[in-house]
Amino acid sequence: MYQAKQTRYDDMVYNRVGNSGLKLSAIGLGLWNNFGSVDPLDRQRAIIHQAFDLGITYFDLANNYGPVPGSAEENFGRMLASDLRPYRDELVIASKAGYVMWPGPYGNWGSRKSVIASADQSLRRTGLDYFDIFYSHRADPETNPEETAVALDQLVRSGKALYVGLSNYSGAQIKVMAAIFKDLHTPFIIDQPRYNMLNRQIETDVLPALTAEHKAAVSFSSLCQGLLTDKYLHGIPADSRAKKGTIPFLHPAQVEQTLDTVRGLNEVASDRGQSLAQMALAWNLRQPAIASVLIGASRPEQVVNNVQALQHLDFTSQELQRIDDLLAK
Ligand code: NDP
Repeated sequence: MYQAKQTRYDDMVYNRVGNSGLKLSAIGLGLWNNFGSVDPLDRQRAIIHQAFDLGITYFDLANNYGPVPGSAEENFGRMLASDLRPYRDELVIASKAGYVMWPGPYGNWGSRKSVIASADQSLRRTGLDYFDIFYSHRADPETNPEETAVALDQLVRSGKALYVGLSNYSGAQIKVMAAIFKDLHTPFIIDQPRYNMLNRQIETDVLPALTAEHKAAVSFSSLCQGLLTDKYLHGIPADSRAKKGTIPFLHPAQVEQTLDTVRGLNEVASDRGQSLAQMALAWNLRQPAIASVLIGASRPEQVVNNVQALQHLDFTSQELQRIDDLLAK
């Protein structure tokens, strides 16, 4: 029987999400990879326990996480039922709808029909009564933003979600949605964009929009799927995501192209007395609008290593300049 560590809240940092009442652990755990039906359950359990024992309270799901799609929610539901049920009120559990999930015209995107059905399926798979945060996973170019917003609002009003969020929306799209949510009095509090040292687009678009709206971000692919760790410094290891070749956005060729930059960044990290992964997470958290950084992990040790980032979050202006110079090359 799992018993959470007594000391779990001692060292974690909790950041307020914009001007909402909610705080999130500065590091959240994402279940996009490594929690599917193809992954051993005891390893999944060990990663989740490690995360919660270190004070991680934010767990990030989506309808399609697996593989197979839906299996990450089912597996998380199993662990909730067997181990985590007594701790439900200590957890922020999120899911999303917006990517393809079932056949036909309703299993994808952001219509009211898709969003409500998808959320109901996600609740059934996890066995939860409600999600703490429910996200629109991406903007639907063919559906009026008001329809997606009203669907998310209905989830809150029917008790199926406490807060709503957006993901992969541009700054302009966030502003449009924020105005609708304001009219509806929907608790829209958070956006989930990709952000890491190798992908900085949100700095001039999404982050200013969030700041203007008093909302916060939780960044995904904060480690660029493992590129911003020491994993690839000496080639592509057999047990890595890049080697699996099945994951979008991380191909062996991409690893080769960025290796010089990554080695330079690793030197900056080691001069700071940190691992590259730790520096990458601290670098994301230097943004005042970022409340939490999501990490993926294929083993508990990665969670331990990554949470140690919180021991050294400050950067000198010289360190930031060195990083900018390396990234400009
Ligand atoms: P990361 O950038 O955190 O990459 C995770 C991978 O990096 C791990 O699986 C592992 O790779 C490697 N890694 C992590 N820590 C270490 C370490 N200390 N040392 C060495 N290697 C390490 O994240 P993801 O791209 O997986 O994204 C995280 C979460 O963000 C997802 O699970 C999901 O919840 C969310 N997300 C949301 C998206 C959206 O559209 N909203 C899109 C993508 C992600 P390996 O498996 O090779 O060991």
